[in-house]
Amino acid sequence: MKTVVSRDQVQGDFVKKVAEISGENFFNCYQCGNCSAGCPSVNEMDLLPSQVVRYLQLGLADEVKNCKSMWVCAACLMCHARCPKGVDISKIMEALRVLRLREVDAEAYIDVTDFSDDYLERAPQIAMISGYRKFLPL
Ligand code: SF4
Ligand code: SF4
Repeated sequence: MKTVVSRDQVQGDFVKKVAEISGENFFNCYQCGNCSAGCPSVNEMDLLPSQVVRYLQLGLADEVKNCKSMWVCAACLMCHARCPKGVDISKIMEALRVLRLREVDAEAYIDVTDFSDDYLERAPQIAMISGYRKFLPL
C-alpha cells in the first residue's frame, strides 16, 4: 500500500498534542524494536509499541487514534527500560488515551466535589489516580 507523507501531516495538530502531553520526542526513536520485543501486552495489540511511535513520526494520526494498543498497554514501563534512546512509550500511550477520551466527550472530566465523603473513603486510590489522569481537563 502506498502511503503519502506530507509536511503538514508530520507537523499536524494531533501529533503535536501527543508530543506536548507525553513530553516525549518521537524522533529520537530509530526503530530498533527493543520496546516491542519486551512488551508483555504485545500479543493483544494491533500496532506494536514501536509501530505506534513510527506512525507518529509519519504523522499518521488516524491510524494511531483508532488503534487498540493504547487501551491494552499496562503502563509497565518495560519499553522505557529497554529503549536505548530513552523513549517512554507508556507516556505516549497515556497521551493517546487522554486525547481519545477528550475527543469522544470533551466535557468528560471528574469533579471531585461530585463524590460523597463516604465514596471517597472507600474508593481505591489507584482508580482515583487513573481517573484523574484520564478525565481532568488539561
Ligand atoms: S526501543 Fe526505543 S528506539 Fe527502539 S523502537 Fe522502541 S522506542 Fe524506538
Ligand atoms: S508500558 Fe505499555 S507499551 Fe510499554 S512495555 Fe508496558 S505494556 Fe508495552
